[in-house]
Amino acid sequence: MSALALNVDFHSHSTVSDGVLSPSALAERAKRNGVDVWALTDHDEVGGIAEARAAAKALGLRFIAGVEISITWAGKTIHIVGLNIDEKNPTLVQGLARTRSGRERRARDMAQELANRAGIHGVYEGALKYVGNPDLISRSHFARYLVEIGVCDSVSDVFKHYLSDGKPGFVPHRWATLQEAVSWIIGAGGVAIVAHPGRYDLSPIAYDSFFTEFKALGGVAIETVTGSHTVDQYEEFTKIANQYGFLVSRGSDFHSPQDAEVDIGKLPTMPKGSRPVWDAWFAA
Ligand code: AMP
Ligand code: MN
Ligand code: MN
Ligand code: MN
Repeated sequence: MSALALNVDFHSHSTVSDGVLSPSALAERAKRNGVDVWALTDHDEVGGIAEARAAAKALGLRFIAGVEISITWAGKTIHIVGLNIDEKNPTLVQGLARTRSGRERRARDMAQELANRAGIHGVYEGALKYVGNPDLISRSHFARYLVEIGVCDSVSDVFKHYLSDGKPGFVPHRWATLQEAVSWIIGAGGVAIVAHPGRYDLSPIAYDSFFTEFKALGGVAIETVTGSHTVDQYEEFTKIANQYGFLVSRGSDFHSPQDAEVDIGKLPTMPKGSRPVWDAWFAA
């Protein structure tokens, strides 16, 4: 089988960040859905990798250790996926711990803003019910609680009306730098990949400087086929990857059976002309 035809899912979240399934339950779902090679990529956290690897092994599912690092670039939040990392690398582990460290304060501030600006009280305590890892309280946990209490009908509506930039529950945050994230990933033996590039609201000039800087720092790939892109964006970013000489990656960005854009393992095949990041890893 050509490596391009492998059912690769290299972007997914467990309860160790803002997913709703444990690493083992996610492994089972990936296997059941026909995934050939799976990566767990929790936000700013590698604490689920050991369980994920063991569960995948027991299921006969090929596994790649991953992470999705939050960065701030030109005032915007961007996500960088690291794949094939050594999750025990001390510099990576320390850098991720530092990246996570502001989340607790931010969550309290978000709850305060929601109380002051939207009159919604007790959201911090409510969101905590959904948190699997006390180090990793995320906007997703807030969104699930706000749906539970009927503030909105869906998680995406909560983001639209309450949790995105400029809305009452949004609190700006400084994450890692691009240089830090890429260097931690490379230092841990991995490859750095821009997560869902179509999701960032950058001007064409800013996209160009971002990709150019990412490449100069040693970044090698961008995601094209992801649950966070529209079908048109699969093609658009395949072209962009080829223009910049990037390889491409693929992943559902699965978080939850309830509100998944695309289920784990259920993405379409890669567009023609794709040069996948895993080509070098798996011989045909
Ligand atoms: P945080 O890292 O706490 O800022 O939370 C970011 C997470 O929120 C992302 O990883 C997504 O899982 C989720 N998210 C962001 N924007 C949206 C959206 N528009 N709809 C649904 N989920 C979103
Ligand atoms: Mn997420
Ligand atoms: Mn992301
Ligand atoms: Mn993600």
